[in-house]
Amino acid sequence: MKRYKKIIEPVKIKIKVGDLVKVRIGKDKGKTGKVEKVFPKKRKVLVTGVNVFKKHLKAKGKEQPGGIIDLTKPLEVSNLSLICPKCSKVTRIGYSVGKDNKKYRKCKKCQEIIK
Ligand SMILES: [Zn+2]
Repeated sequence: MKRYKKIIEPVKIKIKVGDLVKVRIGKDKGKTGKVEKVFPKKRKVLVTGVNVFKKHLKAKGKEQPGGIIDLTKPLEVSNLSLICPKCSKVTRIGYSVGKDNKKYRKCKKCQEIIK
C-alpha cells in the first residue's frame, strides 16, 4: 500500500497580530489575550499569557543554573474567537471591500471595520 503525505492547504487566517482573542476550548477556556505571533502554515497563533506551560530546565553548569520557566505554546486558530475592538463582543469576521478597493475585515456583530 502506498502512503500519501497529507497536504494541508494554506488557509487564510483571519486573526492578526495584535488582535484580542478568547479561548473556546481547552485548559485555558474563557481566557483572553493578545495575539503575539501567527503561524499560517500550522494554523496556530501564539497568545500572550495563554496556554502557558511550566518547563523544567536541567542545570548546565554555571551559566545555566536550571529551574522552571514559563513556556507559551501556540493555540489552534479554530479554538479561538476574536473579540471585536469596537463592540468588545466575541464575534466572527467578515470581509468588505472599501472605496479604495481594498479588502477590510469587518465585525459581523457591529459591522465596524477591524484594522
Ligand atoms: Zn464589533
